[in-house]
Amino acid sequence: GSHTSEELIQWEDTFSAHNYHPVPVVFSKAKDAEVWDPEGRKYLDFLAAYSAVNQGHGNQRIVDALVDQAQRITLSSRAFHNDKFPMFARLLTSTFGYDMMLPMNTGAEGVETALKLARKWGYEKKGIPKDQALIVSCCGCFHGRTMGAISMSCDNEATRGFGPAVGGHVKVDFGDADALAAVLEEHGEKVAAFLFEPIQGEAGVIVPPDGYLTAVRKLCTNHNVLMIADEIQTGIARTGRLLACDWEDIRPDVVILGKALGGGVLPVSAVLADKEIMLCIRPGEHGSTFGGNPLASAVAIAALEVVTEDKLSERAEKLGEQFRAQLQSVQKTYPDLVKEVRGRGLLNAVELFPSGLGNVSTYDVCLRLKERGILAKPTHDTIIRLSPPLTISQRQLEEAVKALNDVFEFD
Ligand code: PLP
Repeated sequence: GSHTSEELIQWEDTFSAHNYHPVPVVFSKAKDAEVWDPEGRKYLDFLAAYSAVNQGHGNQRIVDALVDQAQRITLSSRAFHNDKFPMFARLLTSTFGYDMMLPMNTGAEGVETALKLARKWGYEKKGIPKDQALIVSCCGCFHGRTMGAISMSCDNEATRGFGPAVGGHVKVDFGDADALAAVLEEHGEKVAAFLFEPIQGEAGVIVPPDGYLTAVRKLCTNHNVLMIADEIQTGIARTGRLLACDWEDIRPDVVILGKALGGGVLPVSAVLADKEIMLCIRPGEHGSTFGGNPLASAVAIAALEVVTEDKLSERAEKLGEQFRAQLQSVQKTYPDLVKEVRGRGLLNAVELFPSGLGNVSTYDVCLRLKERGILAKPTHDTIIRLSPPLTISQRQLEEAVKALNDVFEFD
């Protein structure tokens, strides 16, 4: 490219909406966990596009599938059939063990689909009176930026000025099965679904207590409520299992996938469920022009094959254990600064004591990490999420640990 990072950042600021607060680095090329800016500086990517690049940037098999399919046919719409979508649907359902899937594009659309499916099922199968269906969701949740998704959000920034919210939502504390039991006791008859993230990602990698998923499964079954796992960020090997729910061998009624389903190449999302649930939606009742398009289907097939054949779950589990052990040794070195190291697989976070930083913000810490070639983004003032591509090497993880040790030595 002939333009400098400075120019590009300036133009973005001038010509595009200010709906993000990016770390000032421009990606112009990337391979696996490495990223280069226009000046040729190299970085390690510890965000992986919010876990959408599990298979690594520019994964050759996925890019090949994209290029090959782009030469044949890219879009049919679902007004007609195409010869790739059925292959994707068959592979996805057999990989995750559900009867059927419904394809969309972004994660938020997948969430909307699951909510609509749950309401429809609630009226048709559970017998909830017309227009009275409730969805229970968790405090601190993040399910995307659509009206339906922000209507479940407790984050002021996400909701302020965007009212009125979509109705029919009830909140419950995340990780608290007793609180869920009480809500279902009170509203159970009208509750169509309980929607949750098995580990809350945007909230700052909040891991629920052991046994939570098992307790949720039991409660949902007892109250005839659909258990809907939003595995958009946690799924597809990120936490060291194909799904984060696999850690407790729990099978949700509905699973939402996105992000890494498109291998970091295209937006691909999907909702998985068995027939009795999925067939509540009939022709003409829901859809998407681009959902299930042949290009996205070919990419998703390759993205899933890479996860299986390169054993990315096992890799994430093993590397994650080593990484957290090293982060914990950083915590031992800086006990007044590092409050907690937590996570599963390669979805991890370092939480800092607000007081430990003095006048330095967590954003400043990320800027200093960037100077040392490590790209991470703060969430919620004191939390640094570390979620690199699952193809990252042990040596590259050690570079991040070393950089953290360096930047914490600020006074
Ligand atoms: N659900 C979860 C758990 C997410 O982490 C995200 C994105 O961060 C979404 C939904 C929304 O996905 P998208 O940004 O593709 O709409």
